[in-house]
Amino acid sequence: MELQHLVGRIAAEVTPGGAVAGYIPALARIDPHAFGLAVATLDGEVFGAGEHERPFSVQSVSKVFTLALALAENDDVWTRVGREPSGSPFNSLVQLETEQGIPRNPFINAGALVVTDHLGPGAADRLLAFLREESGNPAIGVDPEVAESELGHSDRNRALAHFMASYGNLRNPADTVVREYVRQCSIEMSCADLARATLFLARHGVRNDGTRLLGVSGAKRVNAVMLTCGTYDAAGEFAYRVGLPGKSGVGGGVIAVVPGRCAICVWSPGLDARGNSVAGVDALDRFTTLTGWSVF
Ligand code: GLU
Repeated sequence: MELQHLVGRIAAEVTPGGAVAGYIPALARIDPHAFGLAVATLDGEVFGAGEHERPFSVQSVSKVFTLALALAENDDVWTRVGREPSGSPFNSLVQLETEQGIPRNPFINAGALVVTDHLGPGAADRLLAFLREESGNPAIGVDPEVAESELGHSDRNRALAHFMASYGNLRNPADTVVREYVRQCSIEMSCADLARATLFLARHGVRNDGTRLLGVSGAKRVNAVMLTCGTYDAAGEFAYRVGLPGKSGVGGGVIAVVPGRCAICVWSPGLDARGNSVAGVDALDRFTTLTGWSVF
């Protein structure tokens, strides 16, 4: 089936539902029924439906890109963060104590804070530069209202950061790390921007300009961690339904990678009980069912 027709059909068939993330006030005001879908193919062509050009808060989707930037330097970050599913909520403190301040994986909040710390001062600006280049959209930026709202409600993330600092697993001051992390989560991008920016993972590490961010193994590893840890405590269900590496965020965005073919981004702010976009997962389920493009 032709991709433009396919994304239009999926957008017409899904029913957005669920509740918006209420714990960040600026996100709680978004319409849970909004929906956008974009598929970017390896040559950079984008097929979109719904509100695929409307910017939204990327939130935890940013964690894929900071991990990739850290791994592009070397593998050292793996001495500070694990790569196993956590089986706990994304902002849980419990495991950190029994595991001596080493977060289970880079996609729970504690792990993402360590990755941001690993990238060092200016992490969010580096991320922004990368996202602007890969998406081809120089207008991408931080939504200051979301950043302020999130920073004002960051007691839990600050607790995680200070707790890890007590185990010696932060290099920069805990509050500085949380501020960078909040900026990174508050970046606004559309589905079209994000699908294009995710293409390097479908191209086994090669960026849109033909240079390499990651080696073939590096890209494989980021995709593997997305598959096993990318959708909160529902990665098994996501693999079962969608069958692709994916990463979701509480803003309602989900990115997914079909290695060797395309990158997909879907956005719908209504979330299920485990924090994944209801219509987002449904749309990806339909996409892989209709195309047969999963990794299985
Ligand atoms: N900035 C959010 C937080 O730290 C991100 C959560 C998410 O999207 O999973 O709570």
